[in-house]
Amino acid sequence: PFPSGAPAIFAVAAARLGLDSGFIGAVGADAFARLLQERFRQEGVDATQLQSVPGYATAVAFVAYAGDGSREFVFHLRHAAAGAVAIDALEPAFFDRVQWLHLSGSTLALNENSREAARRVLSLAQARGGLLSFDPNFRPELLAQAEALTIFEPFLEAAALILPTAAEAQLLTGFEDAEAAGRALLARGARLVGIKRGAAGAIFCTADEVVRAPGYAVAEVDATGAGDCFNAACVWGLQQGWALEKIARFATAAGALAVTRQGPMEGVPTMASVLKLL
Ligand code: ATP
Ligand code: MG
Repeated sequence: PFPSGAPAIFAVAAARLGLDSGFIGAVGADAFARLLQERFRQEGVDATQLQSVPGYATAVAFVAYAGDGSREFVFHLRHAAAGAVAIDALEPAFFDRVQWLHLSGSTLALNENSREAARRVLSLAQARGGLLSFDPNFRPELLAQAEALTIFEPFLEAAALILPTAAEAQLLTGFEDAEAAGRALLARGARLVGIKRGAAGAIFCTADEVVRAPGYAVAEVDATGAGDCFNAACVWGLQQGWALEKIARFATAAGALAVTRQGPMEGVPTMASVLKLL
């Protein structure tokens, strides 16, 4: 088994790029919990808000890869510890240090408790000036499309940074054209929208600029996790105050490196490896 989960991959990717990173969530008291806890420890991810919930199994996911590159997931999340975060046990003081809160739509898809936890951490972060980055990470295995649109909307409106795939951008806006979809997402209030296009790279939209970044030529071994590395790299670039062109090259390089290793977070790039590819 590999330690995984989109938010966990993001947390590790942020840490490897040099950001001070922490994870909010819940595990059980089994070997899979220890796998994740040990990885966070190795990577320097603050796990003080990683709760251990008695009586629940740690969430697991299975992924099947089809020959055409598509994936199918089997999730055991909803009734696992991941869906049972104890909201009252979250420490408000943790959020004093949070400049960016990253949320994945897959978390919102779990159950009402997860959505309530997300609303709570968002209000804790925003009250302290923290910004939201949001990846819809729409998984049809977890949520129907119509329900996803309703559930995601308040988070799209709260986000400074929206990071969908091209398919998700279309689902959220109705526009097939990525630039039109990007503009529609910016209209929700974001300052940057980064639309992920797998091997084809990404399209970045701000109010004044559109940057189309081609994909780096790499040998793809396992695409899972590329989006989360890309996301963390975008946050890094914004934190540095970089120009859009530079963020685009950096984030697409981080995503490309992630696909070169088997395992969801095994290929998470370090800052040195991204700089080497650039
Ligand atoms: P996941 O949800 O599995 O983390 P995603 O579907 O959200 O991934 P992708 O579009 O697969 O996101 O990947 C994110 C970024 O990583 C892309 O925009 C691209 O820049 C880079 N990338 C992904 N796959 C490849 C590839 N095969 N070759 C080069 N770059 C890639
Ligand atoms: Mg994704």
